[in-house]
Formats: sequence, structure tokens, C-alpha cells
Amino acid sequence: MLDCAIIGGGPAGLAAGLYATRGGLKHVTLFEMGLPGGQITQSSEIENYPGFFDHSKTGMDFMDTWQEQCFHFGLKHEMKKIQHITKNDKYFTLTFENSETAQAKTVIVCTGSTPKKAGFKGEDDFFGKGVSTCATCDGFFYKNKPVAVLGGGDTALEEAFYLSNICSEVYVIHRRDTFRAAPSTIERVQRKENIHLLTDTTIEEVFGDAMGVGGIRIKNKEGNVSALDVPGIFVFVGHNVNNEVLKDENGHFICEVSEWGQVVVDLSMKTSLAGLFAAGDVRIEAPKQVVCAAGDGATAALQVISYIQEHA
Ligand code: FAD
Ligand code: NAP
Repeated sequence: MLDCAIIGGGPAGLAAGLYATRGGLKHVTLFEMGLPGGQITQSSEIENYPGFFDHSKTGMDFMDTWQEQCFHFGLKHEMKKIQHITKNDKYFTLTFENSETAQAKTVIVCTGSTPKKAGFKGEDDFFGKGVSTCATCDGFFYKNKPVAVLGGGDTALEEAFYLSNICSEVYVIHRRDTFRAAPSTIERVQRKENIHLLTDTTIEEVFGDAMGVGGIRIKNKEGNVSALDVPGIFVFVGHNVNNEVLKDENGHFICEVSEWGQVVVDLSMKTSLAGLFAAGDVRIEAPKQVVCAAGDGATAALQVISYIQEHA
């Protein structure tokens, strides 16, 4: 019987593992379907994690020491994908892909979320080299430069506004002539002089060379194709929250989730189900930053320790 099962080995899961093991829990296992590290390992650099300021290090390098530190304090890692979690009166059962199971007194879900792809030519090739899904992470690299934003929802327009305070011009490209975002957000964006709304427009292709993005080819509703010379393109066409593990065999969530599938937690990262915690990008209102995910993981682990003491 595990004291705590942690699902997902990104910043939230690893920080939870560190705090749980250093906090005295003996049987803590991190179930991560790949190598631990999470989304940030896809990034060529990270410069907004306090105390870490080394441009020669990639996201992968950055996360390497996190694992080492956790394993030093006794965290176990099993490379397994969790299919779903159930709870009886007292304990949780985790079911793996091969139908084997494990039992735990508490569970911290740290499975993150995945930004959706738009599907234009070159999107994958230039991902991390000019194509981004995170304005907070990468906006600063385009200080006083023009950028493009793709999407017409709340995220696209809010992030366009954020970028407009850093970049010289922001071109918002949206495939329809009306936006999905809240009316107040649309008005705020329309009032900003350096935001240009290109509606009924799609991205055909992102182009560039080994140095990165040179620009994008866009097509308007008349079918005219033109080039927009921007070194950065931010894609905000929605997120898939990785919440599948929280669905029971009938497809019902075992705890409360928002209308967008994000796990509802309180400030202690407690979900609506006793003993189940959620941390990082999978939770409601997640800022989707490494430092925040790590903070969530630490908070959740401290709560797990209290929960186990109370329920001993
Ligand atoms: P994740 O990092 O997404 O980790 C979730 C983990 O759960 C994954 O490893 C996944 O394999 C695992 N998992 C999912 N489902 C299962 C399952 N069923 N069973 C087992 N394992 C499972 N943030 C910053 O602060 N600064 C930056 O500069 C920055 N740059 C970024 C650049 C890129 C290219 C990307 C993609 C993101 C960037 N971010 C940045 C965002 C940051 O990476 C995320 O906010 C952070 O990683 C979220 O951490 P997490 O632990 O919640 O989830
Ligand atoms: P979203 O509302 O689903 O919007 C996605 C946008 O991307 C839509 O405008 C969509 O176009 C466009 N799109 C989708 N696929 C595309 C593709 N392949 N190519 C080009 N464009 C594509 O996603 P979101 O903005 O991330 O928001 C998700 C949810 O969170 C929403 O319900 C939103 O209201 C909420 N949210 C709220 C706030 C807030 O309240 N402050 C902030 C952020 C998010 P169409 O419009 O044509 O479908």
C-alpha cells in the first residue's frame, strides 16, 4: 500500500515527490508514462524560473536535477501510464494500461494539459523555434518585434493583449469574422493601437530557416495569399486537459471538474474527493508556468502528509 501515488512527472509531480518524501512519507511512487520532466523538456530554454538563469541550458537540462533530488530523498519512479483511479471507502486503486493495479492511501494528479495544434504547414517543424503556445514564457524573446497570434477565443485575445505590452505589433489571425472571447475582452483588444485584427483569415504556412521563423503565409476569405514578416507566432486554439485518469469505467469524473475539464481544487489543492489532490496545469485557473506547477505540487504534498496523519 502506497502512502501517496503521484501521477505525472512534470514540475508539479516532481515537486510533490520531493515534499512528500522529505516530509517523512516512506512509500511514495511517481507514475510517469514517459521520462520525468514534463512539457518544459520540449523547450530550448527557460528564463523565468527564479534563481535559474543559464541560457546554455535547455528545458531538459533544467529538469534533470529535479529527478535526481527526488530520487535521493526516496521517491520511486515507475514508467507506467495510469488508465483510471477509483476509490472505495478508504483507499484508492490505480489501474495501469496492462490492467494491473496498485493501491494508495492518497493520490496527487499532476497530468498537465496539452495545447492543441492548429494544423498549418510548418507548425511542428518550427515549434520552439518561433512557433509557441505560451506568451508568458516566450513573449519577451520578441520584445519590440512584431508577432502573430492565432485564435479567436478568450485565451488568444487575452494573450494578444499581454503581448501588445512587449511587442511592437500584434497581428491576431482568426478564421471567422466574429470572436468567441468575452465582449469586454474584444473591446479591450480593439482599443489597443498596436493590435491588428485580421479576421476571415487563416495561416497557410509558417516559413523560415535553421535560425527560426521568417514569417507566415496567410489567406483571406477572397483566397488571396500574402506574407506577414513576423519572427514569432503564438498559437492559442484551445487546450486538452489530461483528465482521463479521473474518469471511471462509465466515463464519469470521480471528482468535480470545470465545464472545460479542469480539476476543481481549493487553495490546498484538495479536490472534491477526500484524499485526492490535483496540482499544476490540470487544475482550474492554472497559470501554466513551471514555478506555479511546482508550488502546487509542494502544497499538495504537505496536505497529503496532514491527511495521512489525520486518517492514521
Ligand atoms: P506537465 O509538465 O504537462 O507534466 C505532466 C506529466 O504527466 C507529463 O510528463 C505526462 O507524460 C504525464 N502524464 C499525463 N498523463 C499521464 C498518465 N495517464 N499516466 C502517467 N503519466 C501521465 N513554463 C514556464 O514557467 N516557463 C517557460 O519558459 C515555459 N516554456 C514552455 C515551453 C514549451 C515548449 C512548453 C510546451 C511549455 C512551457 N512552459 C513554460 C509551461 C510549463 O512547461 C508547464 O506549465 C508545466 O510543465 C506544467 O507542469 P505540470 O507538472 O502541471 O504538467
Ligand atoms: P476556445 O474558446 O476553444 O477558442 C479557440 C479558438 O481557436 C477559437 O476562436 C477557434 O475558432 C480557434 N481555432 C480552433 N481550432 C483552430 C484551428 N485549427 N485553426 C485556427 N483556429 C482555430 O479556447 P480558449 O480560448 O483556450 O478558451 C478555452 C475555454 O477557457 C473557453 O471556454 C474560454 O471562455 C475559457 N477561458 C476563459 C478566460 C476568462 O474568462 N478570462 C480566459 C481564457 C479561457 P472558432 O471560433 O472559429 O471556433
